[in-house]
Amino acid sequence: MSEYYSTVSRSQTCERRTDEVSGRSSRGTSNVQAAPAAVSAQGNWADTNKYCFGIDVGGTTVKIGLFDEEGALLEKWEIPTRTAENGKNILPDIAQALRDKLTEKKLSREEVLAVGIAVPGPVEKDGKVHRAANLGWGEFNLSEEFSRLTGFRTVAGNDATVAVLGEMACGGGKGYRNLVLATLGTGLGGGIIIDGQALYGSRGAGAEIGHMHFNDDETEVCGCGNKGCFEQYASATGLVRIGRRVLQETDEESALRGKELTAKAIYDEVKNGDKLALKIAEEYEGYLGKGFAMIAAVVDPEVFLIGGGVSKAGEILLPGIEKQYRKYAFHANQNAEFKLATLGNDAGIYGAVRLVLDNAE
Ligand SMILES: [Zn+2]
Repeated sequence: MSEYYSTVSRSQTCERRTDEVSGRSSRGTSNVQAAPAAVSAQGNWADTNKYCFGIDVGGTTVKIGLFDEEGALLEKWEIPTRTAENGKNILPDIAQALRDKLTEKKLSREEVLAVGIAVPGPVEKDGKVHRAANLGWGEFNLSEEFSRLTGFRTVAGNDATVAVLGEMACGGGKGYRNLVLATLGTGLGGGIIIDGQALYGSRGAGAEIGHMHFNDDETEVCGCGNKGCFEQYASATGLVRIGRRVLQETDEESALRGKELTAKAIYDEVKNGDKLALKIAEEYEGYLGKGFAMIAAVVDPEVFLIGGGVSKAGEILLPGIEKQYRKYAFHANQNAEFKLATLGNDAGIYGAVRLVLDNAE
């Protein structure tokens, strides 16, 4: 476990103690168990009448959580994502994993309230996905297809939008109703909540902040096909790209030379006061600050949550972004707060279950 996970905070409504997640039958030994939470549980696993599944489909693994009807995590595990043949096995594999879990826990299908699924790519409100490129999928209605496979009511959402719902319910966004989550990883995902409601837009692409046009002079192509997108500068990939360029531009000594350049390595050297690492970070934080100021002029959030691989750098990241943000932000947006997202890789499963519970029929 990395230091990242030690920042995870959980609350009574979001997690039960693992020693109580044993209810009706033995637990599978291969399961990834929920980390113990320092809270007292309400009730017993076996008292729960209804269950939900929260599912986060990634390019490599599918994360699955079994939740109670209030959104408390009971158990989580992963299965591989089989993306071959245009991802045709992905949904049947998940359906099988759910059936296996019900059998293992001696639960009936009627005890399952619904299933929430997060996928990487735009998802319309009715569950239609548009080209989830990492999964090989074309255009189809995911909610309908998964319902057909399992018989469960299914609600689908974009993974970053789902993650911000999870952070608002159980993570760094608790207590806020106007939030922007920026996940700084290989790409840059965005999730936006305004007045407690997630922003979807007309085609499910309402919070694609990574693809705001940022630079007319860019020559490299973004993953989306355009050139000069925000994510080309502000993702973890963007940070490493800036790092490489800064190191090439000078002969100046740096502890980063000869090392594998990663977001973490750069921020580790920022902590050590390495001059070039500081220069790289300042340029990077400048892009983030400017992008966030643009978003704030439209969204006016109370808080920006920083998640994804770069957030593993920890709190050291925040003052620099905040300083740059203040430089660019409209006066009425000056007081936005900056915080780290805290659910890490679990944000998707927590949020997926909120899709179901917050849109109960
Ligand atoms: Zn782009």
